Parts: sequence; C-alpha cells; structure tokens
Amino acid sequence: MKNGWFFESLFPDAKLGLKIKKNLSSTRSKFQKIRFLESQHLGRFLILDDIIQTSTWDEFVYHEMLTHIPLFSHPAPKDVLVIGGGDGGVLREVLKHRTVKKVTLVEIDKQVINQSQRYLPGICRNSFQSKKLELIIGDGAEFVKDKLKDYDVAIVDSPDPIGPGKTLFQDKFYHNLSNLLRQNGIMVRQSGSSFFQKKELQDNYARVGKFFKYSAVYTAAVPTYIGGLFTFIFCSSGINPGKINLKTLKKRFTQLKSKTRYYNPEIHSACFQLPNYIKEILR
Ligand code: SAM
Repeated sequence: MKNGWFFESLFPDAKLGLKIKKNLSSTRSKFQKIRFLESQHLGRFLILDDIIQTSTWDEFVYHEMLTHIPLFSHPAPKDVLVIGGGDGGVLREVLKHRTVKKVTLVEIDKQVINQSQRYLPGICRNSFQSKKLELIIGDGAEFVKDKLKDYDVAIVDSPDPIGPGKTLFQDKFYHNLSNLLRQNGIMVRQSGSSFFQKKELQDNYARVGKFFKYSAVYTAAVPTYIGGLFTFIFCSSGINPGKINLKTLKKRFTQLKSKTRYYNPEIHSACFQLPNYIKEILR
C-alpha cells in the first residue's frame, strides 16, 4: 500500500489501483492473507494475498453470470455444488432458483466466510444461514474425489491458480467433476481475463475438453478484473449451450425468486458469441 492507495499484485506490469477510504481488516489465515478495504468511490473489496477477489461495486456481474448461465441452461437443477465462493455471492444467486433443493459449498478457508459475513454483508446477505446449504470447509479438489452423479450443476468460483487455488485447475479435478455430475450435468468456472490471462483460458479450455462433450466460453465485462472481457468456461456432456432457445430461457427466467442486475435471457444468448481474438486464443 502506498500513501493511501492499494495496488493489486496479480500482473507484473499492469495494476488496478484503489484509493483507500478505510482499511477494514487485514489478517492471515493458515492459507492466505485476507484483507477487506473500503475504497473512496468503488465500495468494499475482498483481497486475498494482494489479489482482488470481489467488490460490492461490480460483484453482481460476475456472480450472476457464473450462476444463472448454468442454472438456466439446465432443465431443472436440484443439487448444486459450489467450489470456493467464500464471499457468498454465488450462493446468494443460486438460492434465487426455486428448483434448487440443496447447495453444497466447499470453501477451504472458514475465515473468508466469517469475515465476508462481517465486512461484505451486501454480498452474502443471509445466504450462509439458508437451510438448503451444506457447508464443507476443505479443499474442493479433495471433496470431488469420490463423488458419483451427486450434482446437477457444479460452479467453480476459485481464485487464480495461485496458492490454495492451484488444485482447482488440474486434469484430475476436472475428471472428478465430470464423474460427480448427473446426466445433463453442467460445470462452469471463471477462466480469467481475455487480454491478461490468455494462457489460463487456453490451458483450462483444452483441459476440460478431455472430460466433457460440450465446452464453450462466454464473457462479461467485470471492471474489477482488469484486462478486457472476463471469461467463463461452460462444460457439459448432455447440454449444448448453443442449442437452448431464447423462448425457453425467458420461460425459466420467470421462475427466479428475485431480480437480477446484469443477467437476462437476451444476455444469456448473446454472451457465448465471441470476438475473433478470443476465437483465436481457443483455436
Ligand atoms: N471471484 C474470485 C475470482 O474470480 O478470482 C474468486 C472469489 S472466492 C473469494 C475464491 C475462494 O476460493 C476464496 O474464498 C478461497 O479461500 C477459496 N479457495 C481457494 N482455494 C480453494 C480450494 N482448493 N478449495 C476450496 N476453496 C478454495
């Protein structure tokens, strides 16, 4: 931190700087450094090992797109698995779906959950108190090891492949995820910035292709994640995301318990359309 500014450490030669209004908390768990800060104009931020994870300013874009694309692509998602997601944003969005009966959230660091509830109540709200929640504190890569056809949707809300997040980017992790999904099962994950993390996108797109019949990239602009369009990977062995028509999406969307600020059926159809430079990265 330099004279009242925070600069992210994810990229060596481009940094997002935040003018700090107030340092809310800075602690170290056994996994990582956990920081919460209030910026001058962009709301509150969760920062892990000096890498920005989420912010009250634009979290709705990321959490809605990581959640509603798979859940509205599935005909009737009942059991949902979330890996990571300790800030509670994905969990909040999953619980808006009437068809969902159980959400298993596997988070390695309980401190992130505890402190997010204290410093980011606007993100998690009361989602960690939901009766539909099965909370597992542990490594997501370990949890998926011996599961078979237990889930309809798996959402990987991991940090970047650094520190404890590394295990969530490996072939065996994707192989185990493909085994734990039921017929028509869907897995999605964040796959980084299209300009600054090309290798991460390319590498993960190639890996998932070994374990799923369909895999597709979709995008959204998330200002906090610098480097142009932010990317997500959709995988399934039963659902081809390009074949879901707008009328079906509109019908399913009426079921949602409460409003969204970014996601809508038209965005759902459009977000899989890719600019040529991203098609090039995936070729
Ligand atoms: N939106 C962020 C992004 O795109 O980078 C991710 C946010 S979420 C806070 C990431 C969570 O994953 C953190 O709470 C972290 O503790 C958790 N995590 C990291 N490695 C993990 C692992 N191996 N198993 C389960 N959770 C993990």
